[in-house]
Amino acid sequence: MLFNVSQLLRSPVGETRHYVLDAAPPVHAGTAELVRLPGGVLVTVKADVVLDGVCSRCLTPFGYPAHIEFDEVYVQEYDAVTAARLEPPEDADDETFRIGADHLIDISEAVRQYSEMATAMQPLCRPDCPGLCPVCGQDLTVGGCECEREVTDTRWSALAALKQTLHG
Ligand SMILES: [Zn+2]
Ligand SMILES: [Zn+2]
Repeated sequence: MLFNVSQLLRSPVGETRHYVLDAAPPVHAGTAELVRLPGGVLVTVKADVVLDGVCSRCLTPFGYPAHIEFDEVYVQEYDAVTAARLEPPEDADDETFRIGADHLIDISEAVRQYSEMATAMQPLCRPDCPGLCPVCGQDLTVGGCECEREVTDTRWSALAALKQTLHG
């Protein structure tokens, strides 16, 4: 996911470019807007991604869709015309995205970071996944087992009791 910004870096501040993202994992579809700033380029990405997850109930790996959006400033390290090295801004650190001497912006790392943030804490392969038998470990999507399981979930019984108090 590379953008050559050598022309944009020679353009006046405020110059804007729009791109449609090519599908490249994890990106399924999306757009990028690049705006020339003093000292860099503001990149705004909106993308539909497919994330890899492991079902938190049955432990099956599966892919699921998510949406990411971000704005990041890519700091210019070299002058596009003279190729002279520029002073980095005072607040730049190791996390700062940079535009190198090749005048390329690579959004892959930002996409990876924002996709990670969009990862569900407890993804489910399907909303009603029955999960694994807590006794024998059988995948209950595949088939039942002979174990005797405690079916009452204490959280639900507490809720039922509360409802009864409110309505009764
Ligand atoms: Zn599952
Ligand atoms: Zn079982």
